[in-house]
Amino acid sequence: MKRTRKRINASSRKVLKHRYFRKKENKSILNRDKEVWLSFESGEYLVSKLIVGADGGNSWVRGQLKIPTVEQDYDQFALTCDVLVEHSHSNTASQFFLSTGPLALLPKSNPKSYSIVWTLTPELARSYENLSKDKFHKKLLSASNGFVGKILESTNIRIRPLKMICAQQFIKDNAVLVGDAAHVFHPLAGLGVNLGIQDIASLNEVINQCIEKGTEVNDAKHLRHFERWRKSEAIKLISMLRVINDIFKSKNKIVNFFTKTGLCLIDNNSFIKNFFVKKALQVDFKPPKLSKKSE
Ligand SMILES: Cc1cc2nc3c(=O)[nH]c(=O)nc-3n(C[C@H](O)[C@H](O)[C@H](O)COP(=O)(O)OP(=O)(O)OC[C@H]3O[C@@H](n4cnc5c(N)ncnc54)[C@H](O)[C@@H]3O)c2cc1C
Repeated sequence: MKRTRKRINASSRKVLKHRYFRKKENKSILNRDKEVWLSFESGEYLVSKLIVGADGGNSWVRGQLKIPTVEQDYDQFALTCDVLVEHSHSNTASQFFLSTGPLALLPKSNPKSYSIVWTLTPELARSYENLSKDKFHKKLLSASNGFVGKILESTNIRIRPLKMICAQQFIKDNAVLVGDAAHVFHPLAGLGVNLGIQDIASLNEVINQCIEKGTEVNDAKHLRHFERWRKSEAIKLISMLRVINDIFKSKNKIVNFFTKTGLCLIDNNSFIKNFFVKKALQVDFKPPKLSKKSE
């Protein structure tokens, strides 16, 4: 069957500002010499100088471009849910480092409601998912050491395996990967969104440089600079989180002793605590201009 193909002018305001395409409408990506073609099931297609893959860990864009990935199973699951608790959270997130993995309590807009991200062994996650509400609340109460008071309600319990994914290329011809499409890592530091936003801010900076220098936005030299920059930041973070996770997962008594003693020391000394908080916030050693504080 012959299909009529209609070219959509990518520079038209209508396409850029008002036209949204849903996931299932995408058909294929074709990288040509100086442009990239995105075709849709409808037979229409978009032609652009650059395509940005910001479509998450199972990136369709990455798959279409046949970009290989390095993947590593953390051998842990994340159990996520929403809970209503007895005590107010005062807009403060808390994290408990347990031998089974970290338990994060993330405050929601309701002052007595949290989002829970609980890293567990695969076996524990599967068994907790199937517990009665009452038993699950008791487990959570004990893991959080009664910190939030009684657990009154829990909803949306889901479990998913945790896996590190890093694309071997963050750019390919006229395409760029950002966010989880480029890198997925352990949620223990809650930095996934941060790094994704910094990728976008960095891309913005690189594109501005192209415009200032009068080169095309898909200029290979500038895109390679973007790739080196973002890849090194992602690899730093992936390695750092791997070490932290391994330390907390360790069953070695000496490692556990020093970890616990060290954490108590840090927790009780506001000077040392502030030092580490500052360091943690400077994970990105070369932040894009957009993410720096204005003078
Ligand atoms: C259990 C867990 C807890 C986490 N907790 C935190 C936390 O506390 N703080 C934090 O910063 N990060 C956290 N993260 C990481 C964070 O969720 C991700 O890093 C972040 O969501 C990545 O954003 P993204 O936009 O790159 O991808 P996504 O959030 O996955 O968004 C991708 C989007 O692309 C769309 N899409 C996919 N395919 C197509 C297609 N073919 N066409 C069109 N659209 C498409 C999807 O529908 C989706 O809307 C956590 C992750 C997990 C697994």
